[in-house]
Amino acid sequence: MPRPRIALIAHDHKKDSMVLLAREFAVFLMGCDLCATGTTGSRLIAEVGLSVERMLSGPLGGDLQIGARLSVGQVDAVIFLRDPMTPQPHEPDINALVRACDVHDVLCATNLTTARLVLGQMARPGSTS
Ligand code: PGA
Repeated sequence: MPRPRIALIAHDHKKDSMVLLAREFAVFLMGCDLCATGTTGSRLIAEVGLSVERMLSGPLGGDLQIGARLSVGQVDAVIFLRDPMTPQPHEPDINALVRACDVHDVLCATNLTTARLVLGQMARPGSTS
């Protein structure tokens, strides 16, 4: 069974939630190939102990790097904890990433409840999603 490939991104106000989520699913995530935007990745490495490939920070193009990767079939799911209450300087990149997920039919969880459901499903023995 190939290791699930998961991309993790959290806007600043959602980074604490991402850390808690990753702790909750740490055993499963340790068996995955993970990539993340720069700051999110740093926190997951430092605070959860995960092995994470860090891309550029989101505002510097990290979302676009992840979008490019998933567009060529190299990412199975995106956990993207967006902050809908704060304007982001890289809004076009965020839209491009979510659009790429829809174009290529890649799992994309943009809030905590959905992320829990997706990770819970993926973590089930024999899951193919
Ligand atoms: P960051 O990027 O993990 O580098 O903060 C996330 C974002 O704000 O898009």
